[in-house]
Amino acid sequence: MTNKIDRRKFLLAGSALGLTSGITENIKAKSTTVITGNIKPVVVSSYNGYTMKNGGKLNCVETAFKKITQGEDVLDALIAGVNIVELDPLDASVGYGGRPNAEGIVQLDSCCMHGPKKQAGGVGALEGVKTPSLVAKAVMESTDHHLITGKGAQNFAQNMGFKIEDDLNTEESRKMWLNWKRRIDPNHYLDPKKRSTAGHNAALEMIKEGLIPENEYYGTINCNGINSNGDLCGVTTTSGLAWKMPGRIGDSPILGAGLYVDGNHGAAGSTGRGEANLFGLCSYLVVEELRRGKHPKDAGMTALKRIKENTIELRLLNKRNLPNFNVNFYIIDKLGRYAGVAMYTKASNEDKNYAICTENGSKLVPVEPLLSGNAN
Ligand code: ASP
Repeated sequence: MTNKIDRRKFLLAGSALGLTSGITENIKAKSTTVITGNIKPVVVSSYNGYTMKNGGKLNCVETAFKKITQGEDVLDALIAGVNIVELDPLDASVGYGGRPNAEGIVQLDSCCMHGPKKQAGGVGALEGVKTPSLVAKAVMESTDHHLITGKGAQNFAQNMGFKIEDDLNTEESRKMWLNWKRRIDPNHYLDPKKRSTAGHNAALEMIKEGLIPENEYYGTINCNGINSNGDLCGVTTTSGLAWKMPGRIGDSPILGAGLYVDGNHGAAGSTGRGEANLFGLCSYLVVEELRRGKHPKDAGMTALKRIKENTIELRLLNKRNLPNFNVNFYIIDKLGRYAGVAMYTKASNEDKNYAICTENGSKLVPVEPLLSGNAN
């Protein structure tokens, strides 16, 4: 089914908004927004784009959709959306209050791409800035580069006027990190190999004990959107793998991995095991499949199959000889068709649903899985 609408002025009826999710008054109030193009605008994101509001009225996808349909630049709208999640201390996988690395320091990754402008920017292992997506945008707009990391990224952010916080941990994220640290390093010594296995096992134990939800061991937000003129943009932002090796950067800030947007064909971004996605640059693969005319769902399946094919190391396989991790993709094509796909059917709520916002409001939609069962 295509998401195209007749080429005519399309008045967003306030009454149509909010049917699904109790989209808020703020959006309903905008009952006379004029859409001039022939694409039905849509915003898609990972689960947390629906659940997190940082104490406000709108979630990420509603905020982005509202701004897009008011005529704001699509990327600005998406970033305003993910800023809500980055600033929300309750989301322990993104921005402020994100899970720290193995040394207890929150290092954030983000990238963004502007389809029509063919511009991109990203930051990796950035410390002290709550909204890395805005720094990624500053890299895009104010430098000749696509990716800046570590101290350099922080210096750049400071020069661009961003506030540098001493610590992005919340009391809760610090407490859980300490809990993890005590499990793996009781004597302040373990050989590096044992230490990394111990780190992973300690995290799994903590998930089992219900101390942290599974989706926060990994955890990210990717958010993509299209306006009625077909302008496509995307942004991904994360604190990365919980208690990661300092300096570790996953797929999220890497163009082609955590996000890829080709303004002429589509946008795709990911959450889940970053290393698996990074290896195959799968968001790029998804968009290349869209370029070949595939539907977003089929394009996503190609990427999941590629990840499955590339996963041959025993330590990454479950008893069924299949990947022992999940990866999700969130996809929109140039016609405004969209899909959310995942490696497994059975997963946490966060992995088996994705968020969308259309003129009918926002809702969670089940992802299309490649494989049955779960990752274990
Ligand atoms: N992909 C992110 C990373 O590997 C984590 C996640 O989305 O779950 O850093």
